[in-house]
Amino acid sequence: MVLSIGVDIGGTKIAAGVVDEDGRVVAHLLRPTPAGDAERVAETIAEAVGELAEGRVIGAVGLGAAGFVDETRSVVRFAPNLAWREEPLREKVAGLVGLPVVVENDANAMAWGEARFGAGRGETHLVCVTVGTGIGGGIVMGGSLYRGRWGMGAELGHMQVVPEGRLCGCGNLGCWEQYASGKALVVEARQIAEADPGRAGTLLEMAGGAPDRIDGPMVTEAARRKDPAALAAFSAMADWLAQGLDDLVAVLDPGLLVLGGGVSDAADLWIDQVRETFARNMTGRGHRPQADIRLAELGPIAGVVGAADLARAL
Ligand SMILES: [Zn+2]
Repeated sequence: MVLSIGVDIGGTKIAAGVVDEDGRVVAHLLRPTPAGDAERVAETIAEAVGELAEGRVIGAVGLGAAGFVDETRSVVRFAPNLAWREEPLREKVAGLVGLPVVVENDANAMAWGEARFGAGRGETHLVCVTVGTGIGGGIVMGGSLYRGRWGMGAELGHMQVVPEGRLCGCGNLGCWEQYASGKALVVEARQIAEADPGRAGTLLEMAGGAPDRIDGPMVTEAARRKDPAALAAFSAMADWLAQGLDDLVAVLDPGLLVLGGGVSDAADLWIDQVRETFARNMTGRGHRPQADIRLAELGPIAGVVGAADLARAL
């Protein structure tokens, strides 16, 4: 059995795991990310790899990095939540661990994990949409990860869906992730509670009467208790999510859309509406096979599994 190591490097934690050819994680560990110090990030990755490699034969290491990764899958050009600027991560980590290393964008790695071993098994054309605080994404076409010309494709969350809309962390206005994410859910719920407190009784009670103290778990809990404002916030998010999925279908014609990320933990509150709105507005509806919508299966470990599998091809 050939083993490889996948490392998922986020803004707050580094997850690493030894993965076998069938996508099974045979050992894993977690470390806090020293986000402000690029040298320490590389060292922490190398220490994690060293620890996991102890007593095992490892073929290669795949790094899923939360940032823009160049077309040679070597350099992280920029990372919004880490100290990486033109960071030669592949070379640095390879030098420290003495194994072949590949770097991939973390959302791409996650999508690849789901495509190979999760909800996307057997499907050659799929888009993975990770709905968390923002929206991440990965595109698999013809059985391969689609990375774009410069490695920067599949930034799905930054499709601009509302002209002059809400300000996004990327600097533009009206990006999809400002309307169809965990953050959007909270913004929507706060706005409704502010404008129409009578509809947000449960929600405001949880937040001590202050709309700006409403957070994501409160919106979920209040929706389960049928708070009208919380339900309206989920409904708005579901419609925006469905619209974006229809746009992706119009461009890419996938057979499957995989939805993951933190917000999918409460999928029972929105998945039916997403499926209905998606089907109702799909371009060419009635004259084309309809892409399936499935929930991701691997959970937070998908990035580790995907990165390890990408490394296996080295
Ligand atoms: Zn944006």
